[in-house]
Amino acid sequence: MRLFSCDACGNTVHFDNHVCVACNRRIGYVSERSRMTALEPSGDGWMSHASGERFVPCANAEVAACNWLLPADRAGQLCPACRHNRTIPALDGDKTIEAFRRIGAAERHLFYSLLAWNLPAPDKTEDAEAGLAFDFLADDVGSDGVVIPVMTGHAKGVITLAIAETDDAAREERRVRLHEPYRTLLGHFRHEIGHYYWDRLVRDGGRTDAFRALFGDERQHYVEALERNYRDGPPPDWQSRFVSSYAACHPWEDFAETFAHYIHMVDALETAHALGLVVSPRVASPQQLDLEVDFSPYRQKDFSALAAAWPPLTVAVNEINRSLGQRDFYPFVLSQDILSKLEFVHALISSQARRSA
Ligand SMILES: [Zn+2]
Ligand SMILES: [Zn+2]
Ligand SMILES: [Zn+2]
Repeated sequence: MRLFSCDACGNTVHFDNHVCVACNRRIGYVSERSRMTALEPSGDGWMSHASGERFVPCANAEVAACNWLLPADRAGQLCPACRHNRTIPALDGDKTIEAFRRIGAAERHLFYSLLAWNLPAPDKTEDAEAGLAFDFLADDVGSDGVVIPVMTGHAKGVITLAIAETDDAAREERRVRLHEPYRTLLGHFRHEIGHYYWDRLVRDGGRTDAFRALFGDERQHYVEALERNYRDGPPPDWQSRFVSSYAACHPWEDFAETFAHYIHMVDALETAHALGLVVSPRVASPQQLDLEVDFSPYRQKDFSALAAAWPPLTVAVNEINRSLGQRDFYPFVLSQDILSKLEFVHALISSQARRSA
């Protein structure tokens, strides 16, 4: 994620900010231009202080704290991120409103990446078949009082996310129970969108043979594969071939995990780039851990530049986390097999970005 600046006063502002703390103006995100703008009240809506353009807030601004802006003639409409919401939580109390706000923040962060690459993301009203929609669902309680949990997943362009995942304690309990090193709301969005783009860019994009050569044959029985993974655990050598133990259960899950991982990499490298972060360790042979991200990660054509910049950044941030007694920020190791899969995702996204441009 880049840093932004207030176009009224020049102060540094962040993607989720609603107000510039330096000049106290309301600010909003103009997604078509990937910039923040400071606003002045104007008639029924708002006007950019710098350009004079008129904007209205996304219809989710009040309830979901969405800070995205739309052109003034689209009052009452939802922004390019929120318009994909098909089912939202019942907003009947502080807890569910907070849950929806957390979901919205992670969803907008996901769309920041999709828009940066110009990946196609029509909603279901624009394309009933290939469109994308989100259902944010609460767990059900059976007549016997037993909780029937919602399963987070993807089917035919509809991504279901369990609202329970917005609760830190519940999510952490699941992470520990499932032996996962990493579990976040943003991670769920990036994983599930990987399933969506498997349909769009691999299956519909004629890349199935190349996919199978790297990830295996996805025609193996999906439910049986998940059950086998649950019963027997991953294969003993999974770390040399898969980015996570969950990725080992089926080629579709491997692709979704790899896709999510690729977005983690590019977005974190963009943050390092935005901050001008340089890592130059004071050890005997520092070469492999030197970092200077002197390129724009979202537009980088050469995968090897991303792959070379990534380990020094993760080692540096892990070391800082350890010095504060925190878990590793990046609890993963990338083998050559995993890098080849990440390169496949990189090529898919890059060629789609070129086509859309
Ligand atoms: Zn300002
Ligand atoms: Zn919105
Ligand atoms: Zn999945």
